[in-house]
Amino acid sequence: MIKINENYLKLQASYLFSDIAKRVSAFEKSNPDVDIIKLGIGDVTRGLPSASIKAFHKAVDEMASDETFRGYGPEQGYSFLRETIAENDFQSRGADIVADEIFISDGAKCDTGNIQELFAEDVKIAIPDPVYPVYLDTNVMAGRTGIFEDGRYQGIVYLDSHKENNFVPELPTEKVDLVYLCFPNNPTGSTISREGLQKWVVYARENKALILFDAAYEAFITAKELPKSIFEIPGAKEVAVEFRSFSKNAGFTGTRCAYTVVPKECTVYDSKGTPHKLHELWNRRHCTKFNGVSYPVQRAAAAIYTEEGKAQCRERIDYYRENAKMVCATMDELGYNYVGGSNSPYIWIEGGMDSWEFFDMLLNKAGVVCTPGAGFGRCGEGYVRISAFNSHEKVAEAMERIKNALQK
Ligand code: PLP
Repeated sequence: MIKINENYLKLQASYLFSDIAKRVSAFEKSNPDVDIIKLGIGDVTRGLPSASIKAFHKAVDEMASDETFRGYGPEQGYSFLRETIAENDFQSRGADIVADEIFISDGAKCDTGNIQELFAEDVKIAIPDPVYPVYLDTNVMAGRTGIFEDGRYQGIVYLDSHKENNFVPELPTEKVDLVYLCFPNNPTGSTISREGLQKWVVYARENKALILFDAAYEAFITAKELPKSIFEIPGAKEVAVEFRSFSKNAGFTGTRCAYTVVPKECTVYDSKGTPHKLHELWNRRHCTKFNGVSYPVQRAAAAIYTEEGKAQCRERIDYYRENAKMVCATMDELGYNYVGGSNSPYIWIEGGMDSWEFFDMLLNKAGVVCTPGAGFGRCGEGYVRISAFNSHEKVAEAMERIKNALQK
């Protein structure tokens, strides 16, 4: 008899996006003339930078001829891409990361989900609330939690993010072994200061813990004082892993390319307390279970780092930032509290009511779709997330409609 991994039965079905779809479809049926504007999901809307497209085409052509064809590449990624990442994303900001410490992959979602399999079943895990659900669900699947009760899994240390802490969780009062952090944050759009991140690094060093730092939205940071990488913090290389993605800075959500940085110094321990290099373990996993990102996609990603590519990515980020500004200005005008929107594509708005109620109000009165905060965790109740990923015209129209509908 084939038996299942019963941890999967503990998973709470994620009704968030299907519930949104159901409500939108019901609204569409009864209001066929309303042109619904979707500011709910976190997918980009602009095409790939032309520098990437040119490199992509050229690489596809190379695949056509026996002389330039590429078969299996290095599992960790081609050095042309790893070198340019190390130089541009880290060394240029004073973070001492080398190409060898960078693992190219097909997504930060897979990497943030897969990395937990390197750790013991009984490690104590701290996860923010609200949260990008992948961190939590993959640990549930691996059997690191008890059952789901009162909106939370037993056995997890939840790091509450709320107004009072500016949506940056405090250090846990108990000892944990693994900490997930994401800044700029999805869903709240909050950012962490250098000093704030330093505290986490000190905590991890004191507790022999590991920080999994998700920097998928770093490109949206323009404030000079904010860190883009945890490796800008002294002492982080021994206790942190960083996840990056080309999805949001260069529009690779459908093209798929990302990377994970595991420094050579990063240390983990076996049950006897003997230290091991996390880099070696991740490399072993990566080579066993992954066969590399396709050559044309890696060429397209490398082109982001040319002068032309950098300018085109910057233009796209600025475009979405303009949208975020429009949303913030509208919320200011209407008198709603919010966080995010200035170094992040997300705006986290306190609706003053149940988050689904606020969602329904925006949909029914303005024909605008947002994401109810409760879908991201217990602390998300009372909030909604608005995303800046859409056209200027649609965002402007959505804000006009919201103003007309909600003017107090
Ligand atoms: N990490 C966070 C915080 C995200 O919000 C997302 C996507 O929305 C990802 C990772 C996934 O990135 P990728 O497209 O590289 O899988």
